[in-house]
Amino acid sequence: MPQNEEEWKKVLTPEQYAVLREKGTEAPFSGKLAKPDTDGVFKCVACGNPLFSSDAKFESGTGWPSFDQALPGAVKEIGDNTLGMHRIEVVCARCGSHLGHKFDDGPTDTGMRYCLNSVCLS
Ligand SMILES: [Zn+2]
Repeated sequence: MPQNEEEWKKVLTPEQYAVLREKGTEAPFSGKLAKPDTDGVFKCVACGNPLFSSDAKFESGTGWPSFDQALPGAVKEIGDNTLGMHRIEVVCARCGSHLGHKFDDGPTDTGMRYCLNSVCLS
């Protein structure tokens, strides 16, 4: 796994780097995974850590891939008070890369909505 930001830049595309390592957000509906038509396990594109099952994926209408739960122990959740809002940042538990945010307004039984950037997932 890359040990510093210079190494991350070598293994990630510029778009991936901007989101994963600089906590950027991709444009909605830009991601190839925005629609819930892919089966299997979505992994961290940076380190390969399995993060979310396609069983947890749902169509949120936001333009970002959305899940109602993460695989056990796959992600870390960190309080994020940037942009004047209190949000929960979701990062990969293995490599610490930024994945997206978690909201508690999900439409399914879990009540959770993990709103992720598709460039972070493979
Ligand atoms: Zn990772």
